[in-house]
Amino acid sequence: MGTKYQAFHRRSIEDRDAFWSEQAQLVDWHKPFGQVLEYNKPPFAKWFVGGETNLCHNAVDRHLKDRAQQPALIYISTETGEEKTYTYAELHAEVQRMAAVLQSLGVGKGDRVLIYMPMIAEAVFAMLATVRIGAIHSVVFGGFAASSLATRIDDAQPKVMITADAGMRGGKAVPYKHLVDESLRLAQTPAAKVLIVNRGLDKAMSLVAGRDLDYATLRAQHMDTQVPVTWVESSHPSYILYTSGTTGKPKGVQRDTGGYAVALAASMRHVYQANPGETYFATSDIGWVVGHSYIVYGPLINGMATVVYEGTPLRPDAGIWWKIVQDYKVTVMFSAPTAIRVLKKQDPAFLRKYDLSSLRHVFLAGEPLDETTAQWIAEALDKPIYDHYWQTETGWALLTGLPGVEAHATKFGSPSFPAYGYDVRLLHEETAAEVAPNEKGVVAVMPPLPPGCMSTVWGQDERFVQTYFTSFRDKLIYTTFDWGTRDEDGYYFILGRTDDVINVAGHRLGTREIEEAISAHDAIAEVAVVGVADQLKGQMPMAFAVVKDAARIATPELSAALEKEVMAKVDSLLGAIGRPKRVHFIAQLPKTRSGKVLRRSIQAIAEGRDPGDLTTLDDPSGIQMVKAAVDGK
Ligand code: AMP
Repeated sequence: MGTKYQAFHRRSIEDRDAFWSEQAQLVDWHKPFGQVLEYNKPPFAKWFVGGETNLCHNAVDRHLKDRAQQPALIYISTETGEEKTYTYAELHAEVQRMAAVLQSLGVGKGDRVLIYMPMIAEAVFAMLATVRIGAIHSVVFGGFAASSLATRIDDAQPKVMITADAGMRGGKAVPYKHLVDESLRLAQTPAAKVLIVNRGLDKAMSLVAGRDLDYATLRAQHMDTQVPVTWVESSHPSYILYTSGTTGKPKGVQRDTGGYAVALAASMRHVYQANPGETYFATSDIGWVVGHSYIVYGPLINGMATVVYEGTPLRPDAGIWWKIVQDYKVTVMFSAPTAIRVLKKQDPAFLRKYDLSSLRHVFLAGEPLDETTAQWIAEALDKPIYDHYWQTETGWALLTGLPGVEAHATKFGSPSFPAYGYDVRLLHEETAAEVAPNEKGVVAVMPPLPPGCMSTVWGQDERFVQTYFTSFRDKLIYTTFDWGTRDEDGYYFILGRTDDVINVAGHRLGTREIEEAISAHDAIAEVAVVGVADQLKGQMPMAFAVVKDAARIATPELSAALEKEVMAKVDSLLGAIGRPKRVHFIAQLPKTRSGKVLRRSIQAIAEGRDPGDLTTLDDPSGIQMVKAAVDGK
């Protein structure tokens, strides 16, 4: 940990207002803010109070002066073969057309627009157009099933939904519009208008008269419509992004406008060391927080070109990402350990085939980075690889090195140090006292949370406080729900979640959500889902279920058929990303005397570890059944 880093971080905490006031100069303000931080109702923090700005203006319009003809958005689909670069001027025009269409459908300031789209340029236009007119977007990841989408529709009550006929993955069309139809049947909310970008991929797509609208037709009516930006107060919500927690109901993380713009602009400089005019390539999806911050807003606010890639890392071959780096002179890449583990299985020659001289470094996040993966990619690329740690809630890195401030040595397994603005503590889970070096504690942040972090849970202020700020007795402290340690040199290490959230291929899933989906199958009486270690995906869900009628699993064939049915149920309710690796049927679940399911013991057994002290058990047979099921007996 170098002295420049230390001084930078210390100032961000001790001289907070001056520090953030300086960072705020990295973005445009239509009206300057009067106060850096309003914190009279903890833990609710309002940044840059009184300031008026707009995310779309900062991401697009303000660059027109200097870089109208420079690339802004590079759209590549290895699924359809399309490849198109939009300059800032072209992006500006497209965003205005989309904004004009939204306005013509009655969308205005504060209205919600739900975006359920594949990785196409129009998805980015849709996000930017929404915030341009002061509306609030809720982007839902395309892998989620209709009922997950319905829950999000009911929570956000969108006026308009934007979708495409289909996306493509691995050569197969994924029918997005069809899922929207299904979700609107399940939702309680009166049907919103549905705007469809028709790519001609789903010939069977049907339209609902009066509700469904063809984007191309409406766009053609607004080719030259000018839509001035709607200036909004800094704390005006820019978007809602749902994330999983311990309950079955996902939380809508609400983000502000001004604080988010400043946080992203600052991170591009200090964390990613990314410069205007360069190309940034984040391999995520717009449905995740990384997509929001580092496919769309961060690079564009920084005046860079951003890559929007539809496809897998393996098609047409495992060299595709590196070809993109070469062709578009990518300087900074952002990816996830799972994707690197996928590439590691391929011929390493693909990495040497392309000229990667433009690439400065690669950042990874979303899940623990294991040693073999880290070493493999560092050696294969011969570039610095930085692990950094953050959450949907924070919107940008919480633990990271700051190559843009000072070069630092990385330690394997560590996402390095607290980012500026975060007063990070490692606290004892019961006493809330700070733990000693190398001792395990809960990763916590003393509020106020810095700019860019969630403002609240959409429509549920109380839930925001209850969920995140009540873990440490009567002290108002933010919990990340992650365990961590810090060594003598100040490097942090993340040890896993404190709650029942699991991480599948960098995506967060609540075991409760999967349990609810499985319980919806009429043969199931009771179920426990745990996360088990997986070589490729980090973790995978595994289910242990009790059936209502033993006849359903009387033979191995019946049991296998039911397992398939249960998996299909999860696919249909939650999406394939929640599908368990296995569903084991057992006669009873292991429980404490008070009836609590022993998830941690089940998880230990499923991973072949010692389940620990089980003396509080009334009846150990549940545990034995789990063990027998895992051992295949
Ligand atoms: P999400 O909100 O889906 O991005 O998930 C955030 C969670 O992913 C964190 O709370 C951690 O459990 C995990 N996570 C993210 N980044 C890292 C990392 N670099 N190392 C270990 N775990 C991580």
